Amino acid sequence: MTTPVDRSTTWPYEDGEPGRFSYSRFSSPTVEEAERALGELDGGEALLFASGAAASAAAVLALLAPGQTIALAEGAYYGTGALFRELARWGIDHVEFDQTTAPPPGADLVWLEAPSNPFLTMPEFEEATAHGAPVLCDATAATPLNVKPLELGCDIVLHSATKFLAGHDDALVGALVFREPETAARVREFRTRTGAVAAPDVAWLLLRGLATLEVRVARQSESAGALAERLGAHPAVETVRYPGFGGLLSFDVADAETARRVETSTRLVANKTSLGGVTSLIEARARWEGDRVPPGLLRLSVGLEDPDALWADLEQALA
Ligand code: PLP
Repeated sequence: MTTPVDRSTTWPYEDGEPGRFSYSRFSSPTVEEAERALGELDGGEALLFASGAAASAAAVLALLAPGQTIALAEGAYYGTGALFRELARWGIDHVEFDQTTAPPPGADLVWLEAPSNPFLTMPEFEEATAHGAPVLCDATAATPLNVKPLELGCDIVLHSATKFLAGHDDALVGALVFREPETAARVREFRTRTGAVAAPDVAWLLLRGLATLEVRVARQSESAGALAERLGAHPAVETVRYPGFGGLLSFDVADAETARRVETSTRLVANKTSLGGVTSLIEARARWEGDRVPPGLLRLSVGLEDPDALWADLEQALA
C-alpha cells in the first residue's frame, strides 16, 4: 500500500473534541507518515518544515533566547551563517569554530555540519558532545545512511531534505530529528505557532525519495569516490575535497575565470545550484559565498549517470 496524499486542512471533531488531526498547521497524516519514516532512519522524533532553512530558524528561535550564542562550524553551509546574521537583530549571536577541534566554552548551542558544505570537513563528535551545550548536527550531505548524529551523542539532527532525502530536485523541505521528546514538543509548538510546517504533497515526495535513498546514495558514493580519484590526478585540478563517502565533493582549479570555463563547458553535468538529486550538478561557489571560498572552487554533486560518461564530460570541460 502506498501512502495517500491527504491535502485536507481540517478534520471533524470527535464527539465535540479535536481528534488526532484537527487542522493541518498542527500536523497532517502524510506529513506525519514521512516524519515517522525519517525518525526511524535517524533514531529519533522527526518534524518536517517548509525548507531546511525554516528548520534551522525554528531550532534557534524555539530553543535559544536573546543574549545566547551559537558556536557554528566554520565552513558550514553559507546560508546558515547568513541566517544567524539575520537573527543577530534579535540578540542571538554566533561565533565560528573549527569543527575538527573542541567548540569554544560559553556557547549555548553547538552547530556542526557533517560533512560541511562545500569544504567537506567532518566534525569531531566527541569534542562537541563533551562541551556541555546541546549539539545540533546538520547531516544534509551525509544522510542517515552514512552518519547518525543521535547515535554519536548529538541532540538534534538537521536535514535539508530538499537534497539527498527527497532526492529529485523537485521538493523544498527540511527536517529536525530530536533525541528528547520534550525538545521535539517545544519545537513542534513553535512550528505550529509560526506555521513553518511542510505541505502534504512535499511530504509525499519525501516518502517517495526515502524508498530509493539507499540505492541512490550507494551509487552516488561509488561514482563520487571514483571521480574524486580521477580529479585528484588531473593536472588542472589543484585540490580535491571528498570525505570518503556520499555524493558531494569540491575541487579547485586555478582561478575564477577557469572555474567559469569549466562549469559552463560541461554537457551532461548541469550548471546549477543545489545538491543531492539524481542529476549531477556543478557550480563555482564564489558566486554565492564570495571570498569565503577559493575563487576556483567548484562544487560537484554526483547524480546517477554512468560514471565513465561523467568523467568524460568533466575531462572535456577541464580541457
Ligand atoms: N543545510 C545545508 C548543508 C544545505 O546545503 C542547505 C541548502 O543548500 C540548507 C541547510 C538549507 O536548506 P533549504 O535550501 O532546503 O532551505
